[in-house]
Amino acid sequence: STPAAIAAAIANGARRGLLAKGGATLETLAHVRTIAFDKTGTLTRGEPRVTDVTPLGGGDAAQIDAALAKAAAVEMGSSHPLGLAIIAEAEARGLAIPRTLDGSAATAGKGVSGQLDSGLVSVGSPRQAREAGALPASADALVTQLETDGKTVVVVSEDGVALAVIALRDEPRDDAAAGVAELKALGVTPVMLTGDNTRTADAIGAKLGLAVQAELLPGDKLAAIERLQRSGPVAMVGDGINDAPALAAASVGVAMGGGTDVALETADAALLRNRIGDVASLIRLARAGMGNIR
Ligand code: ADP
Ligand code: MG
Repeated sequence: STPAAIAAAIANGARRGLLAKGGATLETLAHVRTIAFDKTGTLTRGEPRVTDVTPLGGGDAAQIDAALAKAAAVEMGSSHPLGLAIIAEAEARGLAIPRTLDGSAATAGKGVSGQLDSGLVSVGSPRQAREAGALPASADALVTQLETDGKTVVVVSEDGVALAVIALRDEPRDDAAAGVAELKALGVTPVMLTGDNTRTADAIGAKLGLAVQAELLPGDKLAAIERLQRSGPVAMVGDGINDAPALAAASVGVAMGGGTDVALETADAALLRNRIGDVASLIRLARAGMGNIR
């Protein structure tokens, strides 16, 4: 390849919303063996909607609404897509959302909690609720069924007792399955990395046609990238909500355009059009720029 070919490839990509920071990035992209994708906000739209609110231990509509309102209360300070969806559902139902006494605290990859007048309320993964002893075994079948359906489940508990299970669905982007297939056609292995639970992630992975590593905490994503790098350069595609370290650790970090500013700063490349098919376009561009068309 020549400097002119590389400059032409970068300019050509920029016209199509495929940004690469320089020749070194293109060179690595041309040789990438694995593409790791964040799930939420990358392969999916990142706009989950509440589909079910199920009270535990029986309960009428008023109890369902009370649990949803308490969940919304502790999600108020959260910028997590699941939190925003829970608040939106409580608002859509016209519920009065109580106030926390002193804000809420989030634990990345696990959930949030806050003190209300009525008690200490937590909203988080079933795993987290189980570990806290809040989720009774009698709820397991319900959680399993919702997750097998590709929904993300969070548990609302108060003072260590589960009140309700909230299920949310985040639809894959329209071109996600086609974009994944294009990568495989280029000889690159796609894999999904997610903090979501294994059953939900497997359901989505099967639909899109890629392997899945689930239940990863932010630090685990970093370790997963390092493990994948043993078989060659790895590109990580993410929107950057809690994925900035993984983007930085990858051989090439690729930010989706709708992502956070921190993702765009950390990344080596960016896809401005939010299309999964653009990942394959970026790789073809890099191979062409390197005179390495296959
Ligand atoms: P992803 O990798 O899909 O972006 P995260 O690492 O952000 O997922 O979150 C992993 C899991 O932690 C979620 O599926 C959920 O169970 C729980 N969780 C994280 N943040 C929240 C929150 N604000 N409210 C409820 N649950 C949460
Ligand atoms: Mg995310």
